[in-house]
Amino acid sequence: MVIYDLICDANHAFEGWFKGADDFTQQLEQGMVSCPVCDSQAITKKLAAPKISRGAASPQAHIAAGGGSAEAFSKLQDMLGRVHDFIEKNFEDVGNRFAEEALSIHRGEREEGNIRGIVSQDELEELAEEGVSAMRLPPKPINKKKLN
Ligand SMILES: [Zn+2]
Repeated sequence: MVIYDLICDANHAFEGWFKGADDFTQQLEQGMVSCPVCDSQAITKKLAAPKISRGAASPQAHIAAGGGSAEAFSKLQDMLGRVHDFIEKNFEDVGNRFAEEALSIHRGEREEGNIRGIVSQDELEELAEEGVSAMRLPPKPINKKKLN
């Protein structure tokens, strides 16, 4: 008897019990495996969480992957999506002029406003030294629903 962590195309995670790997493949091919939540037959084996080796020289990005709870991961994607929607609507995109523009606002040389853009690590440190409030944003999630 083997137990697989399975996931449907709507991100519902569940366990499936099979006699063996062949049994699982066979049942899947015959459409006998379906999601207990939405009845979808687009089922795949959930991948184990990736192992990340430590001790690399460069700083590591914080990263989240849907290895444990599919529900939590899709919630996180939703939240990040909303954060990015909010930023796109409320912050002016100044691209790679961000550091320049942020300093101008900080020094009162241009009108105040919320801006977003791109900075290098050096520029970010320079901004911090000048006392500019800037924060790094989490990456935009890849939205499968919008892609399809
Ligand atoms: Zn489902």
